[in-house]
Amino acid sequence: MQIVHQVSDLRALVRGWREQGEAVALVPTMGGLHEGHLSLVKLAQEKCDRVITTIFVNPAQFGPEEDLENYPSNLEKDSGLLNEAGADALFAPSVAEIYPDGFATSVSVTGLTDCLCGAHRPGHFAGVTTVVAKLLLQSLPDAAIFGEKDYQQLQVIRRFVRDLDIPVEIFGAPTRREPDGLAMSSRNAYLTDQERKIAPALFRVLSSVADQIRDGELPSEPICQEARQTLLEAGFQSVDYLEVRDAESLVLLDRVNSNARIFGAANLGRARLIDNVAV
Ligand code: AMP
Repeated sequence: MQIVHQVSDLRALVRGWREQGEAVALVPTMGGLHEGHLSLVKLAQEKCDRVITTIFVNPAQFGPEEDLENYPSNLEKDSGLLNEAGADALFAPSVAEIYPDGFATSVSVTGLTDCLCGAHRPGHFAGVTTVVAKLLLQSLPDAAIFGEKDYQQLQVIRRFVRDLDIPVEIFGAPTRREPDGLAMSSRNAYLTDQERKIAPALFRVLSSVADQIRDGELPSEPICQEARQTLLEAGFQSVDYLEVRDAESLVLLDRVNSNARIFGAANLGRARLIDNVAV
């Protein structure tokens, strides 16, 4: 696996592959890699001949009170995992490479970013869409893979790629989970042993809401309200949201349709956990 830190080297690498007629997939990450990330690499390998993974802890998507300083990234360990997984290249740029002096441009999506994590993390999605737009334009891949774990992010990325006519196919990959149901996440490393036992309640509660409203006969809000209370009783300190929304438009649904999804975000110790399940 080749490791590059500069956009010019990344472009040269991609140019070489393209000249041989090879298709290229991009898998953007912030490092702290786990099996969830590696499943994206695997999907990328199924879709394309060459796979570039990026590791960039993007300061622009963290709020001032968030965990940028402590984010659990380890380039040496991560590059070992990617090598084993058979990735062709790792692009690990510095902050100055991505945001050179005088950087003044932002890509932002309206509407879809007003709710869920967008409502609780001001500026977060503009940080994500700006950096993903850059990574796509730097590598010009045929495909890019994102996890359904960050479902709103996936929808927001699909939107700006369509809106800006960026010639890339976006694929969503299913959420990889621990045996007890907890969605794999770099941030699970923040959990104490005690909190780790509480954490799977998020997936359990979201799944139980999905079971209760599956037939579409019951209004969802009272069920969500009870579910938020269950999370607090399980030991979460607070619940940012637990809602039923349309999987594409992200519009709030009181009666489910065939495309409904349950979204949850809750705080447990130092970790803010998010998850979502289809109804
Ligand atoms: P992150 O490094 O957390 O920014 O995530 C990088 C990519 O991996 C994003 O597209 C995430 O949605 C995806 N991802 C993170 N966790 C999982 C998981 N448990 N299963 C599948 N994809 C994931």
